[in-house]
Formats: sequence, C-alpha cells, structure tokens
Amino acid sequence: MRPATIKNQVSSGGVIFRGNAGVTEIALIAVKGGNVWCLPKGIVDKGESPEETAVREVREETGLKGRIKDKIGDISFWYYIKGENARCRKTVHFYLMEYMGGSTKDHDAEVDDASWFPLDTALAKVSYKGDKKIVEKAKEMIQKS
Ligand code: ATP
Repeated sequence: MRPATIKNQVSSGGVIFRGNAGVTEIALIAVKGGNVWCLPKGIVDKGESPEETAVREVREETGLKGRIKDKIGDISFWYYIKGENARCRKTVHFYLMEYMGGSTKDHDAEVDDASWFPLDTALAKVSYKGDKKIVEKAKEMIQKS
C-alpha cells in the first residue's frame, strides 16, 4: 500500500460551566455509541475565528449557548483516516465559556448524548488524556475567578 499522506486539521471547542445549587458543573458529549465522553469541538470553518467555532460547536453539539471568558489552551493528537490513507495531526483550541442558556436536550443528533456533570465527575468521566488536561486547567481557572 502507498505510504499514508499527512494532513493537518485545526478544531476548536469549549468547556462550558454553570453553578448548580453551589456545585460547578460542565457539559460533556458522548460519542462512539455512547462509550466515549469528551469535550465538544469541531473543525474551524473558512472565514471563522477559533472563538466563533468554539461557540458554534458547543451550541450545536451540546444545545447550550455560552460566552467565552478565556482561552484554556491547546491539545494535539494523531489519528488515521482509513478511507483516505492519511495520518492526520489535529490541533484543538479550547475556551472557557460561561453558560448563557439552552438545554442539553437540544444536542446535535450526530452525538449520542450531552449532559451536565459536576466538575470532578466530569474529570473522572472524560475518555481522552488531552481533554482531561483541559478540564483540570479549566477547574483551576474557575476556582481562581
Ligand atoms: P470534529 O469533531 O473536529 O469535527 P471528527 O468528528 O471528524 O472531527 P474527531 O472527533 O476529532 O473527528 O475524531 C477523530 C479521531 O480522533 C477519532 O478516532 C477519535 O477517537 C480521535 N479523537 C478525538 N478526540 C480526541 C482527543 N481529544 N484525544 C485523542 N484522540 C481523539
């Protein structure tokens, strides 16, 4: 088989948070048949800023409207796109967002579920190492604010 081509993708996503009866909660989405819980994110479209993408993807994937408070950081990982025989390096920019409205019932049909979790429950639940690092950093930022 010919060697895999290399692709680069840039996505953007967010940690959206709210206070609920004195407990800080964040929203996660479930994908891959509900087996993987992760942060909402998606590809930065042409003409979009990473901040705009983050707000749009959080709204689409979780059903929640958020307002950006700060940048949390970036993660990157490699994955293989079988149909294209390509190795893809994806970089994801993450933003901390304050919850403004909406319901997780209105999550995208492309995700299996969307739900609020207390921060520490979310930390235990996220499947990817990179997402966990971002949630840990978000927790510090929320506690300082
Ligand atoms: P996007 O959500 O950016 O529109 P997509 O749905 O095509 O894109 P991803 O969700 O990035 O793609 O998933 C592509 C591959 O990368 C999947 O195999 C997934 O398991 C893996 N992946 C997704 N997020 C992470 C992450 N934070 N860390 C490691 N691997 C991840």
